[in-house]
Amino acid sequence: MQGLGEGRVYLVTGGAGGIGRATAEVLARAGGRVVVTDVDEAAGTQAAEDVARATGGTTRFDVLDVADPDAVRGLADRLDQEGWPVHGLMANAGIAPSSPATEYPDELWRRTVGINLDGVFWCCRDFGRRMVERGAGTIVITSSIAGYGVVSPETHAAYGATKAAVGHLAELLGVEWARTGVRVNSVAPGYTATPILDRLRDESPDTYEQWLARIPAGRLNTPAEIANATAFLMSDLASGVTGAVLRVDGGYGAR
Ligand code: NAD
Repeated sequence: MQGLGEGRVYLVTGGAGGIGRATAEVLARAGGRVVVTDVDEAAGTQAAEDVARATGGTTRFDVLDVADPDAVRGLADRLDQEGWPVHGLMANAGIAPSSPATEYPDELWRRTVGINLDGVFWCCRDFGRRMVERGAGTIVITSSIAGYGVVSPETHAAYGATKAAVGHLAELLGVEWARTGVRVNSVAPGYTATPILDRLRDESPDTYEQWLARIPAGRLNTPAEIANATAFLMSDLASGVTGAVLRVDGGYGAR
């Protein structure tokens, strides 16, 4: 894809599987050097190796728990020192637990907010600061159509609230950094065929079938479709786009 690559460094959080891994593959195929990060060291290491083999590109894996601000800061420092200054960040790691609101456990609420909202912000702050200092960079945050009221699944209060928050964060940072050379956007996937959705299907099969029936396109999105939209927003083809939220959902949110 035009406007990507040229040895630029891209970092993907939650890159061990699903949407993150698919995006690492698109970025590596375009000639970028890709830092795959995840809490799951075994799956992440494997993903980075597989992506390098499939694309002939350059990748590395680093363990990163996005909910730990010290770890985020430490990795940002280390990558600069090791000659991997991050030009493009995909703030993608997320979890999608389910609980009735009246019973929502404190720990689960805090963990969801800690990963899906705080974790996105720590990454935007620490990698974004370096981009602002260099006067160039691009960030894409993975939000979700679940962040937009009409399509929030039931029993996903924490998930929907955090996804709405990070979609808005992309708007806020896009405006705050608009004159710095750093663009910040968000991709809001609809239901996409990844392990996170397999877990939702196993928890509540009836709800899952209802969601499927409501997708105007009549099918799930593929991880590659979310990856392509993310790569477009990261590329110079989208040089005029900042503070935008792009739904990639087979028409679900427009319904
Ligand atoms: P996934 O479960 O395959 O990927 C999520 C990854 O995040 C996993 O590899 C997991 O190990 C990692 N992760 C979890 N906690 C982490 C932490 N604290 N630090 C770093 N990594 C952590 O699911 P996916 O569908 O590829 O999800 C990617 C993103 O897309 C998520 O933010 C999700 O909310 C969003 N999303 C997915 C869908 C869908 O239908 N699949 C729809 C809308 C939005």
